[in-house]
Amino acid sequence: MIFEGLSEKLQNTLSKLKSKGKLTEKDVKEAMREVKLALLEADVNFKVVKDFIKRVSDRAVGDEVMESLTPGQHVIKIVNEELTALMGSSQSKLTFSSKPPTIYMMVGLQGSGKTTTCGKLAKHLKKQQKSPLLVACDIYRPAAIQQLKTVGGQVDVPVFSMGDGTSPVHISKAAVEHANRQGLDTVIIDTAGRLHIDELLMEELQQIKAAVKPQEILLVVDSMTGQDAVNVAEQFHEQIGIDGVILTKLDGDTRGGAALSVRAVTQKPIKFAGIGEKIDEFEPFHPDRMASRILG
Ligand code: GDP
Repeated sequence: MIFEGLSEKLQNTLSKLKSKGKLTEKDVKEAMREVKLALLEADVNFKVVKDFIKRVSDRAVGDEVMESLTPGQHVIKIVNEELTALMGSSQSKLTFSSKPPTIYMMVGLQGSGKTTTCGKLAKHLKKQQKSPLLVACDIYRPAAIQQLKTVGGQVDVPVFSMGDGTSPVHISKAAVEHANRQGLDTVIIDTAGRLHIDELLMEELQQIKAAVKPQEILLVVDSMTGQDAVNVAEQFHEQIGIDGVILTKLDGDTRGGAALSVRAVTQKPIKFAGIGEKIDEFEPFHPDRMASRILG
């Protein structure tokens, strides 16, 4: 389960505060040292941890807390609020274009779960009475087009493909025209991934972005890769600009470092989480519920 180790450590540390009654500055400082170590062990970005500890400490040693009747509870409340804020405060919903079709461009490294997530997102949109079109723009990985068709079949959503002999820019433009003709109101473009970020990949993504002007560019990252996922997010954001993040494989991530860092590092919200391989295992990301999972 996500935040397994972190949750146990934070709860232990904070329950010590609770049992103390009155708190001194030293108590808070000692607790914050433990919280800091627990966050670093959970693979949270170093700078994010530093800023977080400073914010919590500044608030926790204020008179209002130290002189209250239940200062330990107060500190827990502050930690909870700051963890929630770290992950984006409130749920960040998808936006829709005022002039359909709304185009979502899905980007990410190979293996991050991008193609699967395209299917999951299509299903999610269908539940909201949208009529999506999936677009196969990964022309480099031999099985990618077929994989998207399979996923499309599972969720009963049409898949637009022109094989692997046409440029992704052309395919994406043709797909938007197709959606217009067919009266489909959302277009989900599955772009190519690579094992590592390279210039050619970024150039191609920039060209697709310029050609179809997506409403949102959604970056799919594997949460199990921890700080690597955060670095990937930073680079994609710098080079093409992203509007949101979808964190996959949360079901296999026991530490939670990416979930806790990616928002603070990129300033872009986590919009959804993948919580299993099945198409249904996908949910909107709720920062407050995530924080509650950590603090129990
Ligand atoms: P792509 O290369 O980025 O398009 O990645 P795929 O969609 O092919 O996914 C790579 C692997 O990750 C597949 O085995 C998926 O079943 C798996 N996967 C995707 N999302 C999740 C998830 O949320 N949880 C788990 N456990 N596996 C996932």
